[in-house]
Amino acid sequence: MHSQQVTAEPPSDDRAGRDSTVGGVPEVLRSPVSGADRAPLVSDVIIAGCGPTGAMLAAELRLHDVRVLVLEKETEPASFVRIVGLHIRSLELMAMRGLLERVVRYGRRRPAGGLFAAIPKPVPKGLDSAYAYLLGIPQPVIERLLEEHAIERGAQVRRGCAVVGFKQDEEGVTVELADGEQLRSRYLVGCDGGRSTVRKLLGVGFPGEPSRTETLMGEMEVGVPQEEIAAKMTEIGQIHQPFWLRPFGGGIYSVVVPAAGVGDRGKPPTLEDFRQRLRAVAGTDFGVHSPRWLSRFGDATRLAERYRVGRVLLAGDAAHIHPPIGGQGLNLGVQDAFNLGWKLAAQIRGWAPETLLDTYQAERHPVAGDVLDNTRAQTELLSAGPGPQAVRRLLTELMDFDEVNRYLIEKITAIGVRYDFGEGPDLLGRRLRDIDVEQGHLYGLLHRGRGLLLDRTGRLTAGAWSDRVDYLADPTAELDVPCVLLRPDGHVAWIGDDQQDLDGHLSRWFGEPAD
Ligand SMILES: Cc1cc2nc3c(=O)[nH]c(=O)nc-3n(C[C@H](O)[C@H](O)[C@H](O)COP(=O)(O)OP(=O)(O)OC[C@H]3O[C@@H](n4cnc5c(N)ncnc54)[C@H](O)[C@@H]3O)c2cc1C
Repeated sequence: MHSQQVTAEPPSDDRAGRDSTVGGVPEVLRSPVSGADRAPLVSDVIIAGCGPTGAMLAAELRLHDVRVLVLEKETEPASFVRIVGLHIRSLELMAMRGLLERVVRYGRRRPAGGLFAAIPKPVPKGLDSAYAYLLGIPQPVIERLLEEHAIERGAQVRRGCAVVGFKQDEEGVTVELADGEQLRSRYLVGCDGGRSTVRKLLGVGFPGEPSRTETLMGEMEVGVPQEEIAAKMTEIGQIHQPFWLRPFGGGIYSVVVPAAGVGDRGKPPTLEDFRQRLRAVAGTDFGVHSPRWLSRFGDATRLAERYRVGRVLLAGDAAHIHPPIGGQGLNLGVQDAFNLGWKLAAQIRGWAPETLLDTYQAERHPVAGDVLDNTRAQTELLSAGPGPQAVRRLLTELMDFDEVNRYLIEKITAIGVRYDFGEGPDLLGRRLRDIDVEQGHLYGLLHRGRGLLLDRTGRLTAGAWSDRVDYLADPTAELDVPCVLLRPDGHVAWIGDDQQDLDGHLSRWFGEPAD
């Protein structure tokens, strides 16, 4: 019987519980299932699912010496090759943890323009980032890199372990696997994808819209010259959306065409399905052959009502699903993990201010809501009716204004995100770009996942929090404010030049100072 018991919010300070745990790297223990006996604690955090979100979260937690066990139901990593785009904010996160060079080696840089509803526009001027490009990278590769990164940092990953149940109480969560094994941790995070078992067992609602239309998407070679494809695309214009054949290089094309009922929804599409739909839409199948991968996706759009119930949290596709237009899903999940990691670690290490863990939902739920909305808007802009097409033409004109184009690209690439930290200058709550500092680059100082006080005045100190917050006095830093306090996720938590005010904000984000 798989049951879950929802408890009151746990106390924020876990020091007492932590002291009672077994030290060192845990052996994963088998334990009896029966009665009120609790399985021995094997980890501080169990993560269900080793997709990009789960792997990123595991690595972030390990930065703070939190013991992490990742349970993945598949015995082997996914081999389904789908090129995803890492957007600017995700590239920034990789740079903040020293991962970017490794990731870039496996991807292709592409311009960060024309991403909104596939409306072809140039990269807007003045994108405020040192990493203002899109990195096309196969999803299995980014998953492998993130999993390796988590393991190198000390996370334990167990494959072939499907989470099928859990119970939570005031001290922890007992997780049940498909073979009946029970494992216990302080927290459980469901990073187990759109059909999340953890979310369902938690009883958290997943309201939104079911899938209305299906689209075929794949990568394959074509049997006709590029000019012929371009001429056909011009002839067809915007009549059939979503529809495109875009060269990826090396003779490979990205092909997207409305499924319109072709094939069996429960089964992967075939090359013949693509040919049939291309002939119906374009009058020719362009001689497509040698597919790299073929997939079908719907436009279901849903957002979990809550991201946390007691000691169980949700992140990534487990918390939100939406159509892949604009390529934001993986990015959103990785960014959830980045937001959650240091907060959950603080909770477990025992220094988290009382409400810190709940800021995860307060900050990330609206961001996901905004992404869902922009994909709803893009879906409309890609539909074939005369109304949506008229709106598309109007927006296409408006995007000639660079500010409009930039606003939409900042939305898709997540560099426009601003968390609500209260009244203050526009920079407050935003991420800080990778500015030049005396020691080189700002992001190079964030590899350890700690806070950072960047002080141009040289008068301030974070001394009492030095076990959690680094300090850099740099009068030359490329900042137009005297001092900023950065959280471990690179968001600006405070701006000013007054020590007393700063101390209040250090307590707000980093808890009470060490004795
Ligand atoms: C056609 C298509 C194109 C896309 N293109 C892009 C793009 O360009 N850019 C982008 O950002 N996103 C894109 N996405 C979305 C992206 O693939 C997902 O958002 C992303 O994979 C979500 O990551 P995740 O780790 O949250 O979940 P998942 O990738 O779904 O990983 C969940 C993991 O949990 C495991 N699991 C499930 N249940 C259990 C269980 N009970 N116990 C243990 N393990 C379990 C699964 O095996 C899986 O490994 C695209 C999606 C589609 C369909």
